Amino acid sequence: MSKSYDVAVIGGGAIGTAVAFHLTRLGAGRVALFERQQIANGTTAQSSGLLRAHYSVPANMALAKASLEMFEGFGEMIGDEEASAGFIRCGYIIVAPEGESSQAVRGAIAHQAGIGIEARLIDRAEALELHPWLNLDDIDAIGYEPGAGFADPYLTASWFARAAKRAGADIRQGVSVEGLLMDGNRVTGLKTSEGDVQAGAVVAAMNVWSHDLTRWTGVTLPMSITRHDVLAFEVDEPYTPRFPILKDLASPSLLYTRSTSGSQILVGTGDEGVETDSTETVDADIPLDWIVEQGEALAHRMPKFEEARFVTSWSGLYDTTPDWNPVLGPLPGIEGLNVAFGLSGHGFKLSPMIGRLLAQAALGLPTDQPLEPYRFSRFAEGQPLRGTYGAGAVS
Ligand SMILES: Cc1cc2nc3c(=O)[nH]c(=O)nc-3n(C[C@H](O)[C@H](O)[C@H](O)COP(=O)(O)OP(=O)(O)OC[C@H]3O[C@@H](n4cnc5c(N)ncnc54)[C@H](O)[C@@H]3O)c2cc1C
Repeated sequence: MSKSYDVAVIGGGAIGTAVAFHLTRLGAGRVALFERQQIANGTTAQSSGLLRAHYSVPANMALAKASLEMFEGFGEMIGDEEASAGFIRCGYIIVAPEGESSQAVRGAIAHQAGIGIEARLIDRAEALELHPWLNLDDIDAIGYEPGAGFADPYLTASWFARAAKRAGADIRQGVSVEGLLMDGNRVTGLKTSEGDVQAGAVVAAMNVWSHDLTRWTGVTLPMSITRHDVLAFEVDEPYTPRFPILKDLASPSLLYTRSTSGSQILVGTGDEGVETDSTETVDADIPLDWIVEQGEALAHRMPKFEEARFVTSWSGLYDTTPDWNPVLGPLPGIEGLNVAFGLSGHGFKLSPMIGRLLAQAALGLPTDQPLEPYRFSRFAEGQPLRGTYGAGAVS
């Protein structure tokens, strides 16, 4: 006889593990998570780990605020004082040149402050006190969010999975989901590499592998896969977490930076990335010219990096929707299935609250925040979720 669960989760990344954790806290009954590799081995392993509530889309801001609070109280939420997400609260500075992006920063900061997020505009003198390496000559607006920072995606997802397991969830690593069991248009379980399982409800958190849902349901997803490269540089003086995260809207590829490995600077970009059909990043070929361009933009903002040494790079994949915001909730015409895809570069910082909302949705409970802004149908309705930054990495 096949196994039977109240709720089955597909995918053991930041999102799937958070869903499984919250399911156990909401009294879901028999919960299972199926991960074909290991916990946090997918795009979660490629993440830069930035946490901030700076968004211009109000729904994202609310999600990020609630998630940041869960990162801050991580041990308490997990119910184990040893539990840690590795959160370093170094703050977040966003700088913009005169023009539209400066207006967007001012508007987003005002909105953040209005919903109780500690965020404010600061002047150059205060910015230089916080981050003495900055050149701010071409900058018009500077936003500051002291409660932001970065955390460890592997630790976070591992603790979510461990806590779910301790609460009785079946965490099945090395097990692939190969299809859905359907009764008409209702999902009733999963076909897995270890046989069929019955499930009262299913949550799919498969990120760039979500196109498999199209094979299983016939519903085409508004999602592309884009490759994004991350670089690390160093100079003799250590770049430590005493420096806040920096988002540079004046740079051509919208750089973000943070401290990494204790003394180096991690540099990522907020550009469109490179579109790909592949869910593999292993052979990513990062053009040298591109690395040099990012190095130059970094040295412009922080002249101490003029003589920087390039240390390392890696590539990761975004699951990107046309408005760069996620789809959360049901697929049209399919019952018993909730999905999360299109997290692009936001999925880690939003994972604690997305996990809670999807767990609530799977159980038919009212959700703490409406999922309606993230509905699948918004693209067909011509109502993409866009804030004042437009479609892109800030959102
Ligand atoms: C370079 C880079 C930098 C980033 N930086 C940040 C950042 O600074 N801040 C931030 O908030 N976000 C960032 N992100 C985004 C964030 O990391 C992701 O959105 C988030 O980790 C996604 O989590 P997930 O659970 O959706 O996906 P994943 O971690 O990819 O998990 C999906 C899992 O599903 C499993 N799976 C798929 N199909 C099946 C199947 N059929 N059967 C069983 N298992 C299956 C996969 O093996 C995988 O483990 C970044 C992403 C990248 C690539």
